[in-house]
Amino acid sequence: MAKQTQTFNAEIKQLLDLMIHSLYSHKDIFLRELISNSSDALDKVKFLSLTQDNILAPGEELQIRLEPNKEVQTLKIIDNGIGMSPDEVVEYIGTIARSGTKKFAQLNNELKERPELIGQFGVGFYSSFMVADKVTLHTQKAGTSIGTLWESQGDGTYSIDEIPRAEGHGTTLTLHLKKFTEEDEVEDFTEAMTLKSLVKKYSDFIAHPIRMKGESEDETLNSQKALWLKNPAEISAEEYKEFYRHVSHDWNDPLKTIHYKAEGTMEFNALLYLPTQKPWNFNMRDTEYGLSLYIKRVFIMADCKDLLPLTCGS
Ligand code: ADP
Repeated sequence: MAKQTQTFNAEIKQLLDLMIHSLYSHKDIFLRELISNSSDALDKVKFLSLTQDNILAPGEELQIRLEPNKEVQTLKIIDNGIGMSPDEVVEYIGTIARSGTKKFAQLNNELKERPELIGQFGVGFYSSFMVADKVTLHTQKAGTSIGTLWESQGDGTYSIDEIPRAEGHGTTLTLHLKKFTEEDEVEDFTEAMTLKSLVKKYSDFIAHPIRMKGESEDETLNSQKALWLKNPAEISAEEYKEFYRHVSHDWNDPLKTIHYKAEGTMEFNALLYLPTQKPWNFNMRDTEYGLSLYIKRVFIMADCKDLLPLTCGS
């Protein structure tokens, strides 16, 4: 395949326009979305390797790597997941295959109000254009030797070319970060501290390690432990307490721990802790309250009021 330039379909063009020109808040969620895509790709390759030989190299560890480069203002998100074939790149990245027009109209309106919900619409990849003016995706499907290089400046077209990926299967996404002014109040996504805190905030419980080069050696940025997904019978009292301290930054033990699993038409897991001491702002009028909402290990919303009634019955 020689290098080709193709045009996005109308829905993607509209979506890109929205990403680039209309969404000002929550720009940092791009990292959450891209890490989630990488994590899904790692799950898929792990699954494939159970039934097919030679998918993973002996001892190969599945991981996500962040590689910021301050000098050239790029951020790479790299995984050794399932990767994509050239056809899959065109299908998954060039079109919104799974959403009908109606859903897209809804998406357009809702995203302006709540950009943080982008992942729920299955278009998370495009959030990279909120922070990048050029995105390069280099991918290779596991079990094949064809690499695909996809590139776009979010301007309605993308190029696609067949180029081997030296690392083999997986995906490398390179974001050429936009130059923001101070007024934009956007963090520097090549700053290690920024990346660390974003991973902690949004992707702490992703099951695969998210690594970045530290001062001397690689650092793992996420705890990987989503305790609420485990079977309560297999969790020790100490594990519950340790997790409480991790999420609350409270040094004390919790007063009460409630771990609940609902199974049926709707499934969810709830893990609630009551602190021993009232938070200092407990009775203040503007205090936000509610639960943290995670979907598939990914942080979606803080203080989600709908999940917690204001007053409980007797
Ligand atoms: P969603 O992840 O919700 O399906 P996205 O727009 O974020 O929507 O991604 C579209 C599709 O592109 C994914 O479903 C997946 O098939 C593919 N994809 C995205 N990122 C990767 C990746 N890192 N590795 C393999 N496939 C990917």
